[in-house]
Amino acid sequence: MIGGEPLIDLLLAETHTCYLGDCEHRHDWGFGCGECPACRLRAEGFAKWQAAS
Ligand SMILES: [Zn+2]
Repeated sequence: MIGGEPLIDLLLAETHTCYLGDCEHRHDWGFGCGECPACRLRAEGFAKWQAAS
């Protein structure tokens, strides 16, 4: 069975960049403003990953 770790690693690696370049605000899913599309995608993906694990 595929574990959650590789998925979250991929998620964070693939969508690493905040559109606003915010690297001051730390979230469970990484750094970012939390409001731009890139951050929301990550937050959403992380929430789904958490809910599924
Ligand atoms: Zn952002």
